[in-house]
Amino acid sequence: MRGAVLYGRRDVRFEERDVPTIIKPTDAIIKISVTCVCGSDLWPYRGVNPVPEPTPMGHEYCGIVEEVGSAVTSIKPGQFVIGSFFASDNTCPNCQVGYQSSCQHAEFVSTAQAPLLRIPLADGTLVATPDVPSDDMVPSLLALSDVMGTGWFAADAANVKPGSTVVVVGDGAVGLLGALSAKQMGAKRIIAMSRHESRQKLAREFGATDIVTERGDKGVARIKDLTKGIGADSVLECVGTQESMMQAISSTRKGGYVGYVGVPHGVELNGENLFYSHVHLHGGPAPVRRYLPELIKLVWSRKINPGKVFDLTLPLDQVAEGYRAMDERRAIKTLLRP
Ligand SMILES: [Zn+2]
Repeated sequence: MRGAVLYGRRDVRFEERDVPTIIKPTDAIIKISVTCVCGSDLWPYRGVNPVPEPTPMGHEYCGIVEEVGSAVTSIKPGQFVIGSFFASDNTCPNCQVGYQSSCQHAEFVSTAQAPLLRIPLADGTLVATPDVPSDDMVPSLLALSDVMGTGWFAADAANVKPGSTVVVVGDGAVGLLGALSAKQMGAKRIIAMSRHESRQKLAREFGATDIVTERGDKGVARIKDLTKGIGADSVLECVGTQESMMQAISSTRKGGYVGYVGVPHGVELNGENLFYSHVHLHGGPAPVRRYLPELIKLVWSRKINPGKVFDLTLPLDQVAEGYRAMDERRAIKTLLRP
């Protein structure tokens, strides 16, 4: 089979890869219906994270179960399934409290930009949909594998409640779906920080009530203006840079919450400033598995349509263009069809 392999800076190739097989009795093999490029794939693509050797890519997936190992009991061939980018047993103490991305047996699923994918710990990792979905629903189900689950975790970690005032830092796909999540959780006011017109439009469609185009200290000043000098109840940090993290903390009211899901790159917090900020900080790799049953229901009943973040669809063999378009910000998120 052929799939995506990253060789180095801005060098993704579509080439021959090993066909995955059942290695452990708890594994499943799925036939990928659709996969996509993640904002976090751009860190190694841009050379920010080193790429020491050719590396198969992709961690967002959904598809039909082809085969299961002898110890798999709840997942069956023919089912349409979705899983998180972290495989988890869903039974250990960390999983039981809802932090499946810190499962004691977590394994990163990292080869999804391909026609076939091996899923470890299939019973714990995969969630089947009620039936095989119609084609138009598949992109929204794919979004649950990471980007929607991560936006949802950002809003949940930021304690969004009915009536909350929410700020979203970052207008990538996660930030946009963070706005959708906040709306779904009943936020009254959702301020999206974005300077790109197409993204502002989608943010509004997803529920943003205000747009702030300024960044850094000027951005914080605008948030303070809009909140009578108080700051927001809940701030979703969906970027992972020093500037975005400081923007998030400084935009939060005393006693408010920051949910941070942008993978930190060079972020350092000053203990004393943090002490006097009086904010709650909660984040990390999203425990997507915790939210899958609920989010599948919301998509299945067509209450949410997170698949709208895919504004470019390509056949998998054009994966290099998929990365390029996101790198150059011509696309918010690229959907790939094997
Ligand atoms: Zn676990």
